[in-house]
Amino acid sequence: MQRAFHIEDSHRSIVAESTLSKVIDYVSKSGEVTPYLVMDSEKIAEKASTIGKKIRNSIVFYAVKANPDIEVLRLINKLGLGFEIASEGELQILSDLGVSPERIISSNPLKTLKFLKLATSYGVNYFSYDSHSEVDKLSKYAPGSNVYIRLSVPNEGSEWPLSKKFGVEMDDAVELLINARDRGLNPVGVTFHVGSQCTNAYSWHMALDKTKDLWDIAAQNGIKLSMINIGGGYPIRYKKNVVDIATIDKDIDKIIYREFPSDTRIFIEPGRAVVGDSGIFVATVIGKARRADEDWLYIDVGVFNGLMESVGGIKYSYIFENNVKKKIWTLAGPSCDSFDVIETGVELPDPDIGSYVLILSGGAYTISYASEFNGFSIPKTILI
Ligand SMILES: *Cc1c(COP(=O)(O)O)cnc(C)c1O
Repeated sequence: MQRAFHIEDSHRSIVAESTLSKVIDYVSKSGEVTPYLVMDSEKIAEKASTIGKKIRNSIVFYAVKANPDIEVLRLINKLGLGFEIASEGELQILSDLGVSPERIISSNPLKTLKFLKLATSYGVNYFSYDSHSEVDKLSKYAPGSNVYIRLSVPNEGSEWPLSKKFGVEMDDAVELLINARDRGLNPVGVTFHVGSQCTNAYSWHMALDKTKDLWDIAAQNGIKLSMINIGGGYPIRYKKNVVDIATIDKDIDKIIYREFPSDTRIFIEPGRAVVGDSGIFVATVIGKARRADEDWLYIDVGVFNGLMESVGGIKYSYIFENNVKKKIWTLAGPSCDSFDVIETGVELPDPDIGSYVLILSGGAYTISYASEFNGFSIPKTILI
């Protein structure tokens, strides 16, 4: 039975027509039980071919944590991207897929010993760091490896900031580069992360200015750097339009070729932008209730089994079946925990119980965050 969804103009600016129609077709024909995540392989391929296209001398390493589904990784591997990993679990999947170690880097500045040993024995040879204790670890368990320093940069333009946990300021960065060299490591470059879902193209500009300062001070200390890892952070559309990747990349390319030697290698580590807008969650409306002047709408995917990022402020777009009058809702997931509230004060239709809802841009940081809390299983990922 072909299901009829009420698609509004605002939805069409969020999701590609081709992705939406493929997913609706799949939902109508398959007997799959909700909730599940459908990923459009063509959209992933399109994104993979866009990112870094405008940056000369660049290599793209997909940040596996955004979506580590094996079929998604198999596709990304076929598309020729490299991978950025942080754990033995992520390494294991890549090893199962036969990905060669030259195509893998690890930019987690604090690696567990277990992971570091496994990654090194697999042949991974590019690691980030931002502390002296990590230099100790790397010089002991990954001697001679290529290392790059994580610089802290402003995360203001980002909806999912990362800068507080990682990164060092200039003086520490210089000291750490010198220490790495003195300990027999090969300090090759600088990395930063402007924050995930960064909607301000100027953030990369500021980060590159800071990188340039460090680059020059390193040279004065006899360390010739040759690589810049510009991290991830490219935004996707959730509710509103965002600056597009080609615009960000052209800007980055311009700055790099003005400020750095022309043979500088550029690493890029996008996660969200590769897979986020390829994915649509399919969920079912399981209940409605009125409590203390609030209308509550319950669906079978929530904070614990897929929509964790809603807690950090990511606001999704929803497409319901049928065209029904709208109301202001508190939208919640299926578990018995009061933390399981996806969004409050959101204007959505008044759907029938048992009808479906499509949650757009659900391909990144959803299933990878999901737990089986309260016995709700982790939703399946289906690549079409
Ligand atoms: C998570 C992460 C990324 C990917 O970030 P996105 O915002 O998803 O593009 C890249 N590099 C590092 C080190 C990360 O931790």
